[in-house]
Amino acid sequence: MRRKLAAGNWKMNGLRAGLSEMEALAQRHPDPRVDILLCPPATLIAPAAQALSGSRIALGGQDCHAETSGAYTGDLSAGMLLDAGAGAVILGHSERRALHRETSEEVRVKARTAQAAGLTTVICLGESAFQREATNTLDIIGAQLSLSVPDGSTGVNLVVAYEPVWAIGSGKTPTPGEIGEVHTFIRARLESRFGPGVGRSVRLLYGGSVKGDNAAEIFAIPDVDGALVGGASLTAADFSPIVEAL
Ligand code: PEP
Repeated sequence: MRRKLAAGNWKMNGLRAGLSEMEALAQRHPDPRVDILLCPPATLIAPAAQALSGSRIALGGQDCHAETSGAYTGDLSAGMLLDAGAGAVILGHSERRALHRETSEEVRVKARTAQAAGLTTVICLGESAFQREATNTLDIIGAQLSLSVPDGSTGVNLVVAYEPVWAIGSGKTPTPGEIGEVHTFIRARLESRFGPGVGRSVRLLYGGSVKGDNAAEIFAIPDVDGALVGGASLTAADFSPIVEAL
């Protein structure tokens, strides 16, 4: 049985003052039925780990380097995230794929390093609006999935987030049928690559303009095990209804 997961991606938002939102979320959900993961900017991971100690909220990073250490000015290793208090890391977010030109192959190498360090990798996949119009979305997702996910992935160290690029921050969402089609496809691909046991244990998140008022409809779709949420994860008032809808 897969545990539901509500994951928040704070992107490049949040100062220490934002820790109060995390604390408010923890107070609202002292014993959640679902897993809650917050991925703030790396600067907030250590103070958040302190502020949330004793709570059931887990922390994650938003990226890490493929190497474990070295001359990579400005970068962070998986071990550093772990050391700061993270248990997970988002990899291959469409903003990193677009703005930092990250390829699926690079995402896979980063994921291998992160998993070896003991982090759960939340690997993001998604088609652009142009790709949805011009090609078969499932071909795009299938290629990203097979190239981005490393061998040796399991239901413990891998979460896959389907995030159509055109739905992120836009207020637009695919229809439930469109989300279901992609999630069923990802599930089948994971089962055929890793075997039914592992394939069925990996959690599949939907991401892209999830809000309190559309969360229940999205979570009712088969093979949607939760959400990766951007804008609506920044305050307890916005994120809490999404956690409750799971
Ligand atoms: C995201 O960036 O991962 C995301 C899903 O953003 P939003 O919820 O704001 O669309």
